[in-house]
Amino acid sequence: MKNTKAMKNSKDNFLEEPNELERGTGSSEALLEPFPEFKELMEESPMRVGAHVSIAGHIYESVDRAISYGCDCMQIFSRSPRSWRAKELAEEDVIEFRQRRQNAGIDPVVVHIPYLVNLCTPDPQLHARSTAEFTADLARAASIEADFFVSHVGSHKGSGQEMGLAQISSALRQILTQHNSEVLVLLENTSGSANSMGHTFEQLQAIIEAVDMPGRLGICLDTAHAFEAGYDLATAQGLAKTLAELDRCIGIEHLQVIHANDSKTALGSHSDRHEHIGKGQIGLEGFRNIVNHPLLRGLPFILETPHDELGGYEFDLPVLRSLRK
Ligand SMILES: [Zn+2]
Ligand SMILES: [Zn+2]
Repeated sequence: MKNTKAMKNSKDNFLEEPNELERGTGSSEALLEPFPEFKELMEESPMRVGAHVSIAGHIYESVDRAISYGCDCMQIFSRSPRSWRAKELAEEDVIEFRQRRQNAGIDPVVVHIPYLVNLCTPDPQLHARSTAEFTADLARAASIEADFFVSHVGSHKGSGQEMGLAQISSALRQILTQHNSEVLVLLENTSGSANSMGHTFEQLQAIIEAVDMPGRLGICLDTAHAFEAGYDLATAQGLAKTLAELDRCIGIEHLQVIHANDSKTALGSHSDRHEHIGKGQIGLEGFRNIVNHPLLRGLPFILETPHDELGGYEFDLPVLRSLRK
């Protein structure tokens, strides 16, 4: 895992914005035509699709759920995500999780931070509590041998971006100094609802720069959040522009995981509502471009799509997979 280096050197080939001829044709083919030297590499990247699955019961049962959906990779919470109280993982459950995951060949395993944690908060008590919980959750992720730990940036609660940035960067420095494991922490982009931080690549880069611990932070790109924040992933041109911007601000090689979610709400809505793949505003063509883009096709795609009358992951997983060329 974490192998984006092979693509790094010639990445610029894929970051060109569409030229005059390609622009406005509505076809993504021209943009996705592989350069000869990358053809072999691209064919070597089998698609990895997975989903955020429940850990109800024992944590190792999440692996069985992932298998039942046909996942190649998976994301979980390491504990109940909506309360501060976390039940410690039993040692035998941790061993069983690692065994089942290995047997199933699930790669990568991603742990998502609980919702209550807010490293940007101006409230000193909540900040300390969030920092402690982040550290404990990261340790749990390491114990189950997760590959990545995804965190939202948080909300500055009206104290302003500068204060938010100072709060999260001091917390992350403390956490990463104390905890030096193989699990790579990824900051997830957000839709940019009121006071929330991390909806632009500039903001994410500002955090990475302020933390100033090279190699210790990466990026998880949520497609629905990006679209809702104003990055137009519905078109090939918009996708090319978005990736070029991500590269300019952060460096595309730091992108490690894609949360593949369609969006119920419009481009730039700043309203976070996930939709089934192809049923939302990004649409099937948008996702066809995303899963086949040379810079993205080697990455794991993790669904966080709804479970409703249309179904759940048993609907979305085959749809996303079928888009791969
Ligand atoms: Zn998330
Ligand atoms: Zn997400």
